[in-house]
Amino acid sequence: TKHVFQFHEGNAEMKEILGGKGANLAEMVNLGLPVPPGFTISTAACMTYLGQQEQLSQELKEEILNGLRTLEEIHGKRLNDAVDPLLVSVRSGSVFSMPGMMDTILNLGLNDQTVESLAQKTGDPRFAYDCYRRLLQMFGDVVYGIDKNRFEQYMDYLKDQYDYQSDTELTAEDLKQVVKAYQDIYQETIHQEFPQSPIDQLFLAIEAVFRSWNNHRAMVYRNLNGLPHDLGTAVNIQAMVFGNSGEASGTGVAFTRNPATGEHQLFGEFLLNAQGEDVVAGIRTPEPISQLAEGLPKVFHEFKKTARLLENHYRDMQDIEFTIEEGTLYFLQTRNGKRTARAAFQVAHDLVMEGVITKEEALLRLQPTMIDQLLHPVFTLDGLQKAQEIGHGLPASPGAATGVVAFDTQRVKALVEAGHKVILVRQETSPEDVEAMSISEAIVTSRGGMTSHAAVVARGMGTCCVAGCGDLEVNETVRTIRYEGGVIKEGEIISVDGSHGIVYLGEIATESNEESQVFQELMGWADEVATMKVRANAETPQEIRAALNFGATGIGLARTEHMFFEGPRLKAMRQLILAENRHQREMPLKTLLQMQTADFYAIFEVTRERGMVIRLLDPPLHEFLPHSVKEVEALAKELNIELAVLQKRIAELHEVNPMLGHRGCRLGVTFPDIYEMQVKAIIRSSCQLAKQGIKVEPEIMIPLVGVKAELVRLRALLIDVIEQVLAQEKVAINYTIGTMIELPRACLIADQLAESAEFFSFGTNDLTQMAYGYSRDDAGKFITYYQREGILASDPFQQVDLEGVGELMKIAVAKGRQTKADLKIGVCGEVGGNPESIDFFQELGLNYVSCSAYRVPIARLAVAQAAI
Ligand code: ADP
Ligand code: MG
Ligand code: MG
Repeated sequence: TKHVFQFHEGNAEMKEILGGKGANLAEMVNLGLPVPPGFTISTAACMTYLGQQEQLSQELKEEILNGLRTLEEIHGKRLNDAVDPLLVSVRSGSVFSMPGMMDTILNLGLNDQTVESLAQKTGDPRFAYDCYRRLLQMFGDVVYGIDKNRFEQYMDYLKDQYDYQSDTELTAEDLKQVVKAYQDIYQETIHQEFPQSPIDQLFLAIEAVFRSWNNHRAMVYRNLNGLPHDLGTAVNIQAMVFGNSGEASGTGVAFTRNPATGEHQLFGEFLLNAQGEDVVAGIRTPEPISQLAEGLPKVFHEFKKTARLLENHYRDMQDIEFTIEEGTLYFLQTRNGKRTARAAFQVAHDLVMEGVITKEEALLRLQPTMIDQLLHPVFTLDGLQKAQEIGHGLPASPGAATGVVAFDTQRVKALVEAGHKVILVRQETSPEDVEAMSISEAIVTSRGGMTSHAAVVARGMGTCCVAGCGDLEVNETVRTIRYEGGVIKEGEIISVDGSHGIVYLGEIATESNEESQVFQELMGWADEVATMKVRANAETPQEIRAALNFGATGIGLARTEHMFFEGPRLKAMRQLILAENRHQREMPLKTLLQMQTADFYAIFEVTRERGMVIRLLDPPLHEFLPHSVKEVEALAKELNIELAVLQKRIAELHEVNPMLGHRGCRLGVTFPDIYEMQVKAIIRSSCQLAKQGIKVEPEIMIPLVGVKAELVRLRALLIDVIEQVLAQEKVAINYTIGTMIELPRACLIADQLAESAEFFSFGTNDLTQMAYGYSRDDAGKFITYYQREGILASDPFQQVDLEGVGELMKIAVAKGRQTKADLKIGVCGEVGGNPESIDFFQELGLNYVSCSAYRVPIARLAVAQAAI
């Protein structure tokens, strides 16, 4: 197969073979733009080379030499020519852009003779030796691994000696001296001479670029960005043009739009009399591209025109590298520019308005995760560069925050009152910490997974959280965090990046983006193309309002247990649980009924006709009881019962395995009082609203059903209560009763369950837990390890597992709709807001996804993308 392609033989579609840089150089040649001629050696040749003990095969060498001959003919210069020598650049370029990760060599073809020829030909020895010393340095670095600093130190020394401010002050004689010194560095470090044969140089350079595919920073970059390691890099051999040949020459980079803000205006920098990396290397301060209009107006005009042409051709913002040689402009690279989230939204929006792309294309160009960056504060790049990382955990809830460490509610409150920003740090959190969590800037736990209490609650609140940060040893008794290399005490400052799951020492500045008009408009377009709806998991009026503001079309999961933890409710709940007979249950039930009716009234008033799925009580009862001796004693006193009786009752409720224990509909079956009370409250509050002309349609959901009889029995019970209330209130209400599908068995008997359910909602947290047999509160301990070892490709609590859990869901959907063709089915687990999972839910034909309020915008974009 062919491995060497002249630029005019390629095009932009050939990225896989030619790499991004090669393919785009070819495309620019086809467009008739001024591009120095050259050819590309394929990525496949790189992989072959790396696979053959790093040997260039004879055939490849010959193909390269042929390619070189063609280049020489096109360009009219020959390598090693005594009068007018060809110089080339040797440039890496892989399929995915990996800016600055691999290596480039410029001015290849110079040696002790050709440098003189170049000096003669151009009449400019200063320029010739400047090229040569650059070649010596880049070649030494890339091919032989000679430390760049060795060369730079010598330059600095020389400049110091002559008291020069800038490289441009070096004379021809100085540069000859530099070349001499650089050649000595070769001798000192590798005990070899710089190869004088240009052909030898060429092959050595090509091999080095091939090898650079596997250099350390390239590997790290690919790991960080989830890019494959087996693609290889192409090598581009291109005739040199010289930006360092005087004051009408220069080199620069420019974006067709501002990559930080997206503003439609050329954005970039250039340097006169400079070559290659000078612009980014910070040797001299480059000038803004607009300055070019003054110095070289014709060049600027042409650049602007071509930049616009390239943008229209690629239909996206371009990142362009160019060089000017004595007033003539050359294009050396173009690619779709990397940009911030804010710029991505602005550019996508503007391109639609300018008629360049469709709304659908615009939506597909955005990454749902960018919305995290848009809606939550992030640490400034500057701040991050100086920051010291002390632990890695799970990115449980996005955002960035700095504050003083506190280990319990009391301290959090005290510090907040004293005017501090506080970060709650615990081994894990429990419902008792919710208040402290709500006033903290961020939450860090050393244990627990993405669906642990801390993670779920933090996401609900929109508070930044890192969960399961095992690198930190949290000691709540002595109030310290130990990390590798030190100890942090209560009151000391840390910074938390919940978007990436990283904890830092000390303070880091944050910045935030405002929710813009552009953002709103794009989200509106997303809603137009989406077929699945996005609901939110929320239960307080405040959270629900936030969710609706984020564009939720309703509530997919209102968890009633959260309502029981607040002040007087908890007391009544405890009385109820501790009651020994029907009679003793009456009072607390009455109290709870009143409170729950008010609770539901308050949230229905916000959601109105939008639809809200209310899940009946789900967690095991012991979660409502205290555990520490002190608290138990206090409760005994408060409720006026004997300590021994209370202890006995707590012991009775204790379960070895509460996740698999007396919870969900099992509670409803054994303590029907509670479900009766809840349903009464739901329907009464609905009636109250109906009487005021506000129509609500409650969707009542029974959790954790695994047996058809559970559902049949509870449904009958609920309908009984509901009809009684409706008869008393003399109002008609549309209501539906459905079930959660969260046990593998429920999936398998979904056809039966559908007979007694108007809707299904997949509880993917439990379903995943039950399918794998992983306790979701403990999985944090091994899941990250499993991922690192490649045992799990991803965390199934974050991204739905297609092979197992997904298969169960497929069965449930098929069986459910076999019984009821129009069965409404949603998903309300954590993965409901995960873009990859959403693709699958679209395929499954679900009606909606539901996720925490702050993930709603992400899900709105993802459901749109899934529908396109
Ligand atoms: P990177 O991938 O790190 O950007 P490049 O291969 O694009 O590396 O090379 C970096 C710079 O070197 C280019 O932006 C350009 O300024 C310069 N360069 C590369 N090839 C040539 C050439 N043929 N003539 C002049 N300058 C070149
Ligand atoms: Mg480049
Ligand atoms: Mg559940």
